[in-house]
Amino acid sequence: MKTMTVEQVTDMIICACDAIIENKPYLTDIDSAIGDGDHGIGMAGGMAKAKEALLAERPFPDVNAVFKTTGMSMLNSIGGASGVIFGTMFLGGVKGMGALGALDALSLAKLMRGSLEAVKERGKAQPGDKTMVDALEPAVLAMENSTGDDLPAALAAAKDAAHKGVEDTKQYVAKYGRAKSLLERAIGHQDAGATSVAIIFEAMHSYAANAAEADA
Ligand code: ADP
Ligand code: MG
Repeated sequence: MKTMTVEQVTDMIICACDAIIENKPYLTDIDSAIGDGDHGIGMAGGMAKAKEALLAERPFPDVNAVFKTTGMSMLNSIGGASGVIFGTMFLGGVKGMGALGALDALSLAKLMRGSLEAVKERGKAQPGDKTMVDALEPAVLAMENSTGDDLPAALAAAKDAAHKGVEDTKQYVAKYGRAKSLLERAIGHQDAGATSVAIIFEAMHSYAANAAEADA
């Protein structure tokens, strides 16, 4: 599968919403260990709002509008750090980008690079600070190395890199959020936001792999 239609992209993001909603207890458990335990609630609530908006507003004119609707829903419904951070993850990449009538591996890599830069600009976190950047940055780098591949392959590389990034957060001391005050006690625990990023890429990959199989 070289390209995805706007409708397929809409379904792919809805799959990501469903995956976060399903993982609400898991994300809450992770955030309870070193944070305040609200990450699952916030993310699942935001993704439920996003899914609702995607279903109500589809069909979208372009890929950009799918990401914009998702990001705005999250930004408007999730409080705390993750509303801004995850809202920006969906909004930042398409901001200023020309209209995408379809999605391929190269355009997805460009879009997600824009998202990563916007998140870093907004939250100031760098790799190693024990945040979602630790999963998003390796996922973007993996996609940038897979731009000649089809979408399922590029997303497979992205989700593998994101999962590895989540594992790596276990070694880090946090520089942001409540985990910061735990200092070395946060070591051994994975970051909740990074886990959300891995779940989102995992779901996008599953959708793309299934859609490619259905097309074949
Ligand atoms: P809060 O920290 O307000 O309780 P959540 O629990 O929903 O919000 O989200 C926490 C997650 O947000 C963290 O696990 C981390 O991945 C991410 N995060 C927090 N601050 C930043 C930041 N400055 N930059 C990037 N990600 C961040
Ligand atoms: Mg929290």
